[in-house]
Amino acid sequence: MDWIGKKILVVGLGKSGVAAARLARRLGATVTVCDDKPLAETAFAAEVAGWGVAYVALGEARGVDFDLVIQSPGVPLEAPVFANARVTGELEFAAPVLLGRKIGITGSNGKTTVTALIGHILREAEVPVQVGGNIGIPPAAMVNDSRVGQWNVLELSSFQLETVESFVADIAVVLNITPDHLDRHHTMERYIDAKARLVETQGRSQVAVLNGGNAASAALAGRTRAKVVYFNAPEPGPWVVAERDGVITVDEQMLMPVEAIPLRGRHNVENVMAAAAATWLANVSLDAIEAGIRSFPGVEHRIEPVRTLDGVTYYNDSKATNVDATEKALDAFAGGVWIILGGKDKQSDYRTLAGRLREKAKGVLLIGAAAGVIRGQLAEVEAGLPLRDCGTMAAALAVARAEAASGDTVLLAPACASFDQFQSYEHRGRVFKELVGQLE
Ligand code: ADP
Repeated sequence: MDWIGKKILVVGLGKSGVAAARLARRLGATVTVCDDKPLAETAFAAEVAGWGVAYVALGEARGVDFDLVIQSPGVPLEAPVFANARVTGELEFAAPVLLGRKIGITGSNGKTTVTALIGHILREAEVPVQVGGNIGIPPAAMVNDSRVGQWNVLELSSFQLETVESFVADIAVVLNITPDHLDRHHTMERYIDAKARLVETQGRSQVAVLNGGNAASAALAGRTRAKVVYFNAPEPGPWVVAERDGVITVDEQMLMPVEAIPLRGRHNVENVMAAAAATWLANVSLDAIEAGIRSFPGVEHRIEPVRTLDGVTYYNDSKATNVDATEKALDAFAGGVWIILGGKDKQSDYRTLAGRLREKAKGVLLIGAAAGVIRGQLAEVEAGLPLRDCGTMAAALAVARAEAASGDTVLLAPACASFDQFQSYEHRGRVFKELVGQLE
């Protein structure tokens, strides 16, 4: 597509909007940017001001006045600016000029872990690779360093995928689909539709890697023309990655024992299988895949071990921002857990946690704005859970420090967004780690 002299409006001046604006300028377009904040208050104000591009307030911008409107993943498509305009997403805009083959990873949970792991395996195997997308570098900012013969490993959220029309992943990985972000997509069906875009654009020469143990992921086999390879398949066999008797197999060959995986929890066994499938399809040898998995350091804020104090181990899973991730975190421990729950409610159903909490939790330490909702829902389905109202992270840790016994685990896996008390889940995780570091 030739953008020289075309008028492009970029909506949203976060990391990906700014990357899209920069790329649009490089491609010769006349760029206008808009945001709901005044330009001076956006994170990239200085940089954008230096380009001399026009700025309009979001409320005043009209997409119909432009040849193309680029949506940042953070701005909902229902925003009036998009009405009747030609709208595309940042990924879709960047894709035609992003050189090299592409591995796209989506799912409700595990995207960052699997993206980072695939990148690590390829790097360790000395395969040229860049990693980006929803984590780290936005696709538009990967264009400059992209080369033919290299892999682009892209973490893709439903918000990035909902505008996809022509982006094609050579290898698409759909980890799992469980309820999340329903505040934006409104229905589960529309959320699945967004994720499905990743495999719907694929053709016969591409491969879709689907989760044999997750109905919604596996069902996407019916929505793609790509060859399908299952991971987490019920049985070992040709063209699948499976686990049986504690051993992971790839295409009927042994990859490695499950106990050699350095990450905790059954969900991480699934993540490892997904990464093994993708890198095997990218022609990495099984030996190199195993070596990469064994040396993977893990990702910050995902069941991250922080400290052991008087026999009590503290784990930071601040990224558990939904109920499913919290369930997985609880499943990763045998029992004796003091779990910190709460934050900004995403209208989730917390009742599904009750059974596991009864089994695993010695204390449920409630913090943040959602504390009341969580207490109400849990009390409704399960009498006698050890619920404690703590309010803040510091207060929750004080209770845990005073009452946890040697051998217990203190786990931050809050099942909620962070924005009531923190700037982000990363900020929440860092505060947790700092406070844990200060315990005496
Ligand atoms: P994402 O990028 O999709 O949010 P992450 O790798 O950052 O995924 O993990 C998010 C949260 O989900 C963490 O709390 C993690 O422990 C949990 N998690 C990771 N992988 C899975 C999985 N395969 N299934 C369910 N939960 C998972």
